[in-house]
Amino acid sequence: VTAPHDRAAILSIGDELAIGQSLDTNAMWIAERCTARGIRVVEHRTVADDLAELTRAITELAARVPVVIATGGLGPTADDLTRQALADAMRESLVEDPQALARLEEIERTRGRTLTPQRRAQALRPMSARCIPNPNGTAPGLAATIAAERHACDVFFLPGPPREMHPMFDAFVAPALRPPGGRVVRTRLIRTFGLPEADAGARLGDLMRRDANPLIGTTASGGIVTVRIRAEGEAAWADAATDTAEAAVLAAVGDFVFATGERTLSEAVLDSLRARSERMVVAESCTSGLLGAMVGAIPGASDCFLGGYIAYANTLKRMDLGVPLRILDGPGAVSMEAAIEMAQGGLRRNPRAHHALSITGIAGPTGETPGKPVGTVFIARASRLNNSAHAPVDARRFLIAGDRDDIRERSAVTALGMLWHHLAHATTPKLLWQIAP
Ligand code: ATP
Repeated sequence: VTAPHDRAAILSIGDELAIGQSLDTNAMWIAERCTARGIRVVEHRTVADDLAELTRAITELAARVPVVIATGGLGPTADDLTRQALADAMRESLVEDPQALARLEEIERTRGRTLTPQRRAQALRPMSARCIPNPNGTAPGLAATIAAERHACDVFFLPGPPREMHPMFDAFVAPALRPPGGRVVRTRLIRTFGLPEADAGARLGDLMRRDANPLIGTTASGGIVTVRIRAEGEAAWADAATDTAEAAVLAAVGDFVFATGERTLSEAVLDSLRARSERMVVAESCTSGLLGAMVGAIPGASDCFLGGYIAYANTLKRMDLGVPLRILDGPGAVSMEAAIEMAQGGLRRNPRAHHALSITGIAGPTGETPGKPVGTVFIARASRLNNSAHAPVDARRFLIAGDRDDIRERSAVTALGMLWHHLAHATTPKLLWQIAP
């Protein structure tokens, strides 16, 4: 029973996953955690809500690996068959768990309801299994050991909703895992803005050798280049090697690094603003609030984010931001001049704001005009000089590739990146997708 969990399989259960209606993020999340502990994930399997298929999947996986971690199908509805399938695979009958039942009754009581037989079924477990408490939902998880031909397989079943599953994994599954010892995998992310991926590669040079350990690689997405460090080995060595590699990466690309780990550009911008006790507003045309939403998504944004304008139509650009008619009728709403006026208008109308970001462009798929193809986007940043009314503007023209979603997303990220570089370094480099000035 104490054989190490050197290999694992991940089982995702549910029709919506099988038919492509929702994305299996649980498997990714769990695999990452197993890998970090040195447990090799050898298979991801997805099974529809079908009792026979599910029983077979559990039986087959249990015969091959020492640990299976499954999610989904534990709820109270008729298509939630996981409990029965596990009992069938274990050749045991289902019994009611008294503690799980008490908790279900308690939940129903606080909601002013009585426990229906359907909901009550969530307290069932195979005879020798244990229930895993679920602090954020009704369905408890299950932990059991399945006796396969040559070994025993530990299985963990958790509910599908990530906000229920994550804490249950951390509190119950992670401590129960028996990594083989010795080797672990440590990863670290270093996130940059404004450095073309090829330039990042050139700067990192030999650090990116394919046979190196730690292995260092880059991925690019929407203007953000992420440097990934992956060290594999004995725990203390891997920790130290990751730190050393991080220092080397920072030395090579440090000016462009806005975060290590999962931190977003919005968080980096808000932190910089907070450190300076400064505030920002946004004035958005083609992104229609996307930029504001990215900033507002961060807890505590209200310290530094005043809000902004969705000025899609020309009338709103005029009324809300004071963009003069001569610009709208002349160079047009999608122009450098309009972007500059939008940013300055945003600042003028908000004396408490120190910075304004504006975006106007053609997100497509229609709407291109001569000389302004789809993807043409003008972005401006206006920042008050010494808290005065005078606010110099950094305005740029971009040509952004992709579909409407890509262009809008990348525009918002670019605006944030321009502000971040200004706050962090007082200058913003020329960006790869920039075509003027
Ligand atoms: P519940 O008690 O909510 O019914 P459950 O264990 O029965 O939990 P499911 O009914 O299978 O879980 O899924 C509930 C929801 O959890 C799904 O609608 C989906 O939003 C999310 N979910 C399920 N499986 C996954 C997965 N593999 N990755 C990401 N989300 C998932």
